[in-house]
Amino acid sequence: GDFPIETDTVVVGAGPGGYVAAIRAAQLGQKVTIVEKGTLGGVCLNVGCIPSKALIASSHRYQHALHSDDMGVTTEGVSLDFSKVQSFKDSVVKKLTGGVEGLLKGNKVEIVKGEAYFVDKNSMKVMDDKQSQTYEFKNAIIATGSRPIEIPGFKFGKRVLDSTGALALEEKPEKLIVIGGGYIGTELGTAYANFGTEVTILEGMKDILGGFEKPMTQLVKKNLKKKGANIVTEAMAKSAEETENGVKVTYEAKGETHEVEADYVLVTVGRKPNTDELGLEELGVKLTDRGLVEVDKQSRSSIDNIYAIGDIVPGLPLAHKASYEAKVAAEAISGEKSEVDYLSIPAVCFTEPELATVGLTEADAKDEGFEITSGKFPFAANGRALGLNETDGFVKVVARKEDGLVLGAQVAGNGASDIISELGLAVETGMTLEDIALTIHAHPTLGEIPMEAAEVALGKPIHS
Ligand code: FAD
Repeated sequence: GDFPIETDTVVVGAGPGGYVAAIRAAQLGQKVTIVEKGTLGGVCLNVGCIPSKALIASSHRYQHALHSDDMGVTTEGVSLDFSKVQSFKDSVVKKLTGGVEGLLKGNKVEIVKGEAYFVDKNSMKVMDDKQSQTYEFKNAIIATGSRPIEIPGFKFGKRVLDSTGALALEEKPEKLIVIGGGYIGTELGTAYANFGTEVTILEGMKDILGGFEKPMTQLVKKNLKKKGANIVTEAMAKSAEETENGVKVTYEAKGETHEVEADYVLVTVGRKPNTDELGLEELGVKLTDRGLVEVDKQSRSSIDNIYAIGDIVPGLPLAHKASYEAKVAAEAISGEKSEVDYLSIPAVCFTEPELATVGLTEADAKDEGFEITSGKFPFAANGRALGLNETDGFVKVVARKEDGLVLGAQVAGNGASDIISELGLAVETGMTLEDIALTIHAHPTLGEIPMEAAEVALGKPIHS
């Protein structure tokens, strides 16, 4: 018989949304059950952020080993053992997913393996291979994440890969076609280009990485081309046909039909929310036309004891957004007044150079009616960047003209993913350009670049 198990809060999905929500709810005194049908850590830890960054790091090491002559290091016989690249990546994933399990247990969260389906607003069934178990709960937090979109003519298979497949290749491909020049496509394209794969990126729009400003994406394009990658914009991918040892892709560009062959084609044209198999519609949970759960500022859906966070709600589909919403939802359930505020949410692309943005761009700020001032400082004028031989890029700070309130910042360059944190703090806490300029930054560091950019915006640059 299926005797219902009672709990305070059920969390569905153990990605960076779900596991964080579970821990925070438990810390706040809730009895918490987390249900996961796959692996703890979700997309981010298993097949997203973490493995992709490990792969990218290996690819950098390989490039550095091959090309450090101008810094006086000449190497011979550099070789790539791709199975070790994979096992390094897998070991990083394993450490982190194991860590998540330890954290959940340490916080007394009950971990349940299986697939959740809502029966009504206070109960759900969890199915594993053998049986179904009912859970009764006061509140639920849904964090079921998203999956890759399949496009017509490109059915995922042995040669037509989604991002998960592209992260798990056993051998380095000689040739790879990437459909979609968004952040996943360009990151993985960069990694494989570094490993020596001949990469072709087909992008439907006018440019790759549409979310970033042109001077930033130009740097990435230049770098990809230097690695031998071919970037075709305004290209419509039509179909893929498996050949004996690979795949042939047909696309249209400038009114002409082209064919390219490769070992694999990676399709990264977007992701869709996992909200279709949970019984949400029957429950009356309001979804947008894209299938995202409509939520209020406390991550509460149209059903008042059901919350939703992460990739299944509107906004940027990023891990740190999921974790942020997770804390808000857990706190809201526990009666706290937390609300989401996306003012300082950063977005990062781990290409070369790295791109990062937080808050408003100059164009956004003008659109919102601000009179602005901005300052830009190049990596090439920073001592540390020169010493690292990584001089591509800049930091740009955008501020309100009347008082220098920092509204946003954009960083392109080595370490942009870390540099953006200081600028996010500035936006979040309402700092001014002067606050950044007057903060003593250690020398010589890349961290000095935001300080110099703030000085440029204040009209008092020392080094430019
Ligand atoms: P997910 O991480 O997708 O987790 C959802 C979990 O729910 C899954 O484990 C799934 O098995 C489980 N689940 C689904 N349905 C059910 C059910 N019915 N019952 C039980 N369990 C269920 N973001 C960044 O911020 N930085 C990056 O560098 C970055 N790189 C990425 C690289 C790649 C290749 C990809 C694909 C994504 C990347 N992302 C990155 C995005 C990031 O992975 C997601 O935004 C994040 O994982 C979303 O977290 P989530 O908790 O909403 O869902």
